[in-house]
Order: sequence, then C-alpha cells, then structure tokens
Amino acid sequence: MRLYSPTACIPLMDYLPLFARLKDSPCLVVGGGEVALRKVKLLLRAGARVTVVATEVHAELAKLAATGNIVCRLENFNPAIVNRYRLIVAATNDPSVNRSAANAAAEFGVFCNVVDDRSLSTVIMPAIVDRSPLVIAVSSGGVAPVLATRIRQQLECLFPPALTELARFAGEWREVVKKRFVSLAQRRRFWQQLLDGPIARQVMAGDLAQARVNIESAIAEQPVTEGFAWIVGAGPGDPELLTLKAARVLATADTILHDRLIATSILDLARKDAEFITVGKQAGMPSISQDEINALLVERVLAGKTVCRLKGGDPFIFGRGGEEIAALDAADLPWQVIPGITAAAGCAAAAGVPLTHRHVARSVTFITAYTADETEPDWPSLCNSDQTLVFYMATSKLAHICNSLMAAGKSGDCPALLVENGTTDRQRMIRGTLNTLPPRTVNVQVKSPAILMIGPTMELVKIIADNDLSAFGDDNWSPAASINQQ
Ligand code: SAH
Repeated sequence: MRLYSPTACIPLMDYLPLFARLKDSPCLVVGGGEVALRKVKLLLRAGARVTVVATEVHAELAKLAATGNIVCRLENFNPAIVNRYRLIVAATNDPSVNRSAANAAAEFGVFCNVVDDRSLSTVIMPAIVDRSPLVIAVSSGGVAPVLATRIRQQLECLFPPALTELARFAGEWREVVKKRFVSLAQRRRFWQQLLDGPIARQVMAGDLAQARVNIESAIAEQPVTEGFAWIVGAGPGDPELLTLKAARVLATADTILHDRLIATSILDLARKDAEFITVGKQAGMPSISQDEINALLVERVLAGKTVCRLKGGDPFIFGRGGEEIAALDAADLPWQVIPGITAAAGCAAAAGVPLTHRHVARSVTFITAYTADETEPDWPSLCNSDQTLVFYMATSKLAHICNSLMAAGKSGDCPALLVENGTTDRQRMIRGTLNTLPPRTVNVQVKSPAILMIGPTMELVKIIADNDLSAFGDDNWSPAASINQQ
C-alpha cells in the first residue's frame, strides 16, 4: 500500500532520485574485492577521484592504482578519514566494518552507500541505462533489485544507443532554440516536433549534416514537414520476434498501415493516437489491391506523415516490399526497410529443424507455388536430396507440390513438415513424407498461413504441445542422431 504524508496528503517516496555531480570529488570505497571494483569503475565513469581503503585489493584495483586512476590505501579502515570525502561506499564482506563506515558517515553528514544493506545506506545505487548525456536510473528502493534490473534491461532495449547522439545534438542547439523561442510552450512544441520528426531520425542514423540543415530551417520557422515511410517486417506472429528497431518505429509512427494478420499485441505497441489502416488479403474476402496499398502509402507520406508499413515476416520475402519502395521512389519520397524474421526462419525455429545442416542440407530455397503468371516452378531443379525447400503460401497447393516433386524424380520418402500459424499460440504441425503428408492433411483442414518444409532435416522435428499434430506422422524415420553423425 502506498504511504501518504499525514500533513500534506502527498504520496511519500522512500527515496528522492537525484543525479550527483561527482566530477573531481573525493569518494571513498571501503573494501577491495569484486564488488568494490564494480563500484570503483562506476565512480570513475562519473569522474570521481576515488580512494580505496582495504588490507588487500583485487588485481584490477592494483592496476588502476599503478596507472594513477585511483589511490589505494592498503590499511585497516579508520573512521576518522570519512570527513574528507563527499561519498562513502562500503563494500567489504565484514558487516562490522561496513557498519563502522556507515556510522562515521552519519556522524560527518557524508552520504553513504553500504552494498546490499539499505538500512545502513543513506543513498542507494540505481540500475542505470547510460545514454549519456541522457541517463535513466531505476530503483526498487533495494526491495526488489532483480525487478529493477529486469526493467533496466527492458529500457535498454527500448532506448537505442543512438539516443546518446540525439541527446548531444539537442544539447548543442538548446541555447539557440531558447533565444529563438521565448515562451516555454513554444520551446516545448519545437522540441516535441523535432523528436517525432525527420531531424531526430537523421541524427540517429548518423546524418548530422542533413539534421543541421533541417534544424536551422526549423528554427527559421520553415518547419520540416517531410514524411517518411518505414517498411517494417513484423515477424511470423510471436510479438517477441519483432526487432527492437521495428518496436521503436511502431511506437512513434503517425500512421500504421498494416497487414490483416498482424497480431493485436504487436499493434498495441503503436501510439494510441496513431492512425491505423488495415490492408492486405484475407481468403474469401474482397481485399485491397497492391496498387491501392501503394497509393495509400504514397498519399500519407506526401501529407508529411511518418508511416509504418507493417508487414508479416520480412518485407522482402514474398512481401511485395519491392513494389512499395518502387512506388515511393517514383514519388521521390524517402523510405527505409526494417527486416523481419521470415516465416521460414520462425517456423523452423519453432519446430526445431535446422534449415541447413552440414553435409545433409547444403542449401535452402524459399519458394512459392503461386506465381503472378501462373507458371509452374522448375520442379526438376528442386529435386537434389541435400537441400531444404520451404514453400510459402502452401495451404491449398500441398498435394500439388508433393506430387509435382515426386513426378520430377524426388523420393516419396523425403521428410516433409507442414507448419500452420507457426510461432503463435495457434501453431499446429503435421509431419510426414512427400508420399504421406498430403493424405494426412485431408481430415485436418489446414488453414492459412501455413508453410511446407521439405528436406532431410525435417526428421529432426520435435513434438511440442497438445495442438501439435506430429502424431499424424508415424513414419519410421531414422533417429535424429543419424543426421548429426554424418
Ligand atoms: N513476408 C512474409 C511472407 C508473406 S507470404 C514472410 O517473410 O514470412 C504469406 C505466407 O507466409 C503464408 O501463406 C505462409 O506460407 C507464410 N507464413 C506467414 N506467417 C506464417 C506463420 N506464422 N506460420 C506459417 N506460415 C506463415
């Protein structure tokens, strides 16, 4: 339960987060082991003048002392020296020494952190995400350090290292912007637009020259309203298979133009006030054509929007991403592609089948039996026994694919695996051979999206869950070990 101050009805915090300026300040670390070393390194990062007092020190501390980065006093801790320092860190494994350091610090009014003992500490060390000059500190007040670390890791993922560059850039222009925009509200609006728009994107992509040109014109009140298209792969279904970059772009885009199959849990990462447009095909439904999708994309970018065109899997693998960038190029609009985990990689991982394997599967082919001009694939070229074939859009062509391969000379015993809704909680798998798989699917009603993988490594498939239909596969495949021995 949250505590409130009795007099002012203000919610109470156990600690006030402060950022301490320790540059050139004398700090004392009591203790010379691993933990002390970690604290010393942290203090050095903050520019502190560090003294270590311990009877014995870690070799790395000795090295830091030898190179003049710290001072090591090889002696027993004497509480009388505490008043010479701005901050004390007690990091010994002797509780009585730690307590004596804490008591002395209290007496002299010096801040003290006792490692792993918050009752003795007047300051605690947060978990840090360092994008200096931007620093994010997380603390659970020492109650749940593992939770704080977990949150720090999530923040690490959310805030890319390029934020350092962005924070520096903002710092360089701060005074100029302050002079130009007198009111706080104007300045806030300026920075918000900058952070959401092309200038921030250019800085983070390392294009500082263009960013400078643009910020100058924005300051001269010719705001840059240039739109931008991100062509983003959303992966095969599991939201955790999204890339960090895709998640970041999704969180900032004005317009999300997404395929119908993209999971709600992925779309939830977008801004709540973003415009969502569903496009893409659904079996048996009238669907928007690729030309219409291209036109929508171009129109929104022309209107100055940052558009996230979110597509299943990878945009460049049976994704028509090439057509979308051609349309953007024709309209002279800027774009960038963020790759995604393609269905083949996602389904292979979910099934535990390597797509290539030394000696037995030397190559992998991503292919579809559907073509724009309804021509057939070159079946004989797909008949080598040491390759993996991954057929996209396989649902209704399953029997045709298996029969065509056998007719072209591929062995009917070749292992095959069908994965439906791979990496999602609706995932189903059916295993068999070119011969046995099609009849096995008759009663199962395979639905789209499904992928068909064919090749020697498919015999490695692991049986995973209740809705895993591998039970349909009862072929006498050789044990998986036979592949690994080759
Ligand atoms: N660009 C996508 C492919 C789009 S074509 C990618 O890189 O994955 C659509 C086909 O992808 C589907 O018909 C199906 O064959 C395959 N597919 C997509 N998601 C899938 C999933 N979760 N499980 C199985 N197959 C999938």
